[in-house]
Amino acid sequence: MREGTVLVTGGAGYIGSHAVLALLDAGWQVVVVDNLVTGFDWAVDPRAKLVVANIADDDKVRAAIREHGVIAIMHFAGSVVVPESVSDPLKYYRNNTAASRSLIESAVAEGVKHFIFSSTAATYGIPEVVPVREDSPKQPINPYGMSKLMTEIMLKDVAAAHPINYAALRYFNVAGADPQGRSGQSTAGATHLIKIAAEAATGKRGHVSVFGTDFDTPDGTGVRDYIHVSDLAAAHVDALDLLIARPSENHTMNAGYGRGFSVLQVLDAVDRVTNLTIERKLEGRRAGDPDALVADNSAILAALPWRPKHDDLEGIVKDALAWERKLAERQG
Ligand code: UDP
Repeated sequence: MREGTVLVTGGAGYIGSHAVLALLDAGWQVVVVDNLVTGFDWAVDPRAKLVVANIADDDKVRAAIREHGVIAIMHFAGSVVVPESVSDPLKYYRNNTAASRSLIESAVAEGVKHFIFSSTAATYGIPEVVPVREDSPKQPINPYGMSKLMTEIMLKDVAAAHPINYAALRYFNVAGADPQGRSGQSTAGATHLIKIAAEAATGKRGHVSVFGTDFDTPDGTGVRDYIHVSDLAAAHVDALDLLIARPSENHTMNAGYGRGFSVLQVLDAVDRVTNLTIERKLEGRRAGDPDALVADNSAILAALPWRPKHDDLEGIVKDALAWERKLAERQG
């Protein structure tokens, strides 16, 4: 058992619930703060304590920090649908930027020492150079990316002024599910490719649309750096150890594998794993999709002992499919 407790916001959601598992498996005590708007109480491991509250509810958050002796916060809560951020930007500046401001203020007021933030490759916008490095220009092309970038900026300023340090992890394309089947991507209305393909493979949808076949990539479809959610969760646990060991340092790091797969390569992998042929409908590009988005992950590999354990596209797809089947049973 480690000393102290980690507070995980959004711990009932997709990535947060995997971080809760990784923290518990590493011996941490965990308290989750989640308003259950998109998360599920059953997704929170029973070894963790669940506080149902909004992260901007200062009284509840501060009480949870005090009651549980919280030494670090991992902050996953927020809104994550890019097109929705375009149609309803104020929702994103409220749920992501303003709510993060409240949470950070609670952390500082209660003397929390470490803060780990779930940021995104969307902070880069359409990168000029791929693989993309952390010091590449940050030019988000949607309010989602901007709302996360604004939170990174707040953390930088707050860490300079107060005794708290932070790590911001910029996620690339998160996919897959806990290999032990304890959690996975459960939110309805998925838009992410591997989740959509898993739904198609389990009969929840008839086909997969391929958005764009004229990108500047080897087969013309979009290339992304897909990272297994359990590897991503493990990176957070290592980042916490780093923040504790080096209280004067802050770290902003890409979280990706540094290699990309095209949409067609992903769908081929799904077909190989299932022995089925998912119907593909070739369609036009989605607005704002870059040709290729791949991480330069040299910073995270240099800073952390973390090494990917699930860097295998078919393995990611297998875990996503296993979870999708489990979800289908749960939903009847
Ligand atoms: N994509 C697709 N069909 C889908 C969903 C996604 O062709 O039903 C493509 C999308 O255009 C991009 C890649 O798959 O090239 C990854 O998209 P996703 O929405 O999973 O993540 P994003 O990179 O947009 O964050």
